[in-house]
Amino acid sequence: MQQIELDFSTFPFTFEIKRSRRKTLVIYVKEGKVEVRAPLKASEKWIGSFLADKSAWIQAQLRQQRQKKQEALRLVDGSRIEVLGQTLTLQVALGRQSWAQRSGGTVTLFVRAAHKDKLEKAFMDWLLTEAQRYMPARVEYYARKLGLAHKLKAVTFRRTRTKWGHCCQDGTIQFNWLVMMAPPAVLEYLIAHETSHLRHLNHSKKFWETVGSLCPDYKQHRDWLSDHGHRLWPA
Ligand SMILES: [Zn+2]
Repeated sequence: MQQIELDFSTFPFTFEIKRSRRKTLVIYVKEGKVEVRAPLKASEKWIGSFLADKSAWIQAQLRQQRQKKQEALRLVDGSRIEVLGQTLTLQVALGRQSWAQRSGGTVTLFVRAAHKDKLEKAFMDWLLTEAQRYMPARVEYYARKLGLAHKLKAVTFRRTRTKWGHCCQDGTIQFNWLVMMAPPAVLEYLIAHETSHLRHLNHSKKFWETVGSLCPDYKQHRDWLSDHGHRLWPA
């Protein structure tokens, strides 16, 4: 890794150049940072004009990433979160073990120290338990509605960045339990979506017809997940 200071003072962003045995230039904008991957011998002029060409796009990406970060979930004392459509207030308390407990509209996170990762763990474990209590029964409900209960093998949970749910060929359906904080209609859509994969293991027209039979407004909820799903991830 090499930080090269190019005299591109006109650029409204900083960037890092990584050279390697590659033939083309490519720009990555990730977590608020700009990285240019360049061939070993790429001239600064080439890199500079490439960056100039992509400048508007890079700035739009940076803006979007900043905004998403601001909108991300904050797990601190007094935060308000929505779970299954109910607004809950987080309370932080010191305790010997990391765990959480809900009482009425308050979820108390007991942690040994109010560190971000400890709060996150206490909260995530609690939310996972809520998801395990709620979501498998909803999957069974939709599976029965489709006459596919016999195809359902298991409902499992995993916090994956790339997708909210997944259905395996063997009939195991997996969810990212953060979706419990989505609006209830969106959560229902996701459950209907994954359950419909018990019939069609693809995203064909027939698959979407099945989803639509369970959830007529599915397009709107699908859009919500792609537009706002980042709000459900901790900052
Ligand atoms: Zn799918």
